[in-house]
Amino acid sequence: MRLILLGAPGAGKGTVAKLLTSVDGSVQISTGDILRAAVKAGTELGKKAEAAMKAGELVSDDLIMGIMGERLLEDDCKAGFLLDGFPRTIPQAEALKVLLTKLNIELDAAVNLDVPRDVILDRLTTRRTCVDCGAIYNVKSSPCKVEGVCDVDGCGGNVVQRDDETEEAISKRLDVFNEQTAPLVGFYKGEDMLLDINATSSDAVVDAIKAKVGI
Ligand code: ADP
Ligand code: ZN
Repeated sequence: MRLILLGAPGAGKGTVAKLLTSVDGSVQISTGDILRAAVKAGTELGKKAEAAMKAGELVSDDLIMGIMGERLLEDDCKAGFLLDGFPRTIPQAEALKVLLTKLNIELDAAVNLDVPRDVILDRLTTRRTCVDCGAIYNVKSSPCKVEGVCDVDGCGGNVVQRDDETEEAISKRLDVFNEQTAPLVGFYKGEDMLLDINATSSDAVVDAIKAKVGI
């Protein structure tokens, strides 16, 4: 399947994407993960992205389109892809439309994961991430077996609160989301591609998506 996953930070885009990859072999493409890996590796891309990310602001559309223009050409995308955290602005959505037309790729849907703001805030402040493999934990609902240590087989990385998950950066990210990303719901509605889901349970979201794409 080929999907865009829309939704606020903490809406569950990453969780849903991971669940969907095992349904039909589609790959999860998370611009946030790509950027965090670049920052960690200290690449040119990482250096350009770091300050904006730390402040909870968006990285420039040009930088993101450069990443995605290359990523969508990779072989593993042939089995399908789940765009997690991209597009994030109207210019990115417009540029993606042009790119997909050029590549002759049609999307199944743009899925909007709708989650109440209080649920989002609670999830983000309690979320923890493995610095090595990116696995997500939650201090309340799914803690690591050993505090601060990743459970994933063979990983054992440090599990920490992300730099952009301080209360200040979270509130900034939610403002940025409301201003720049929320308008994408209207954009994809206009393109007749929108699937709106009340997304408090990830399993229910996966079922709704499977029904929509006919799997
Ligand atoms: P979230 O948990 O907020 O969904 P992500 O992991 O998707 O976070 O992204 C983390 C940060 O990476 C964002 O706050 C932003 O700085 C940057 N970023 C990720 N994807 C994009 C994008 N498509 N456009 C601009 N910036 C992005
Ligand atoms: Zn790990």
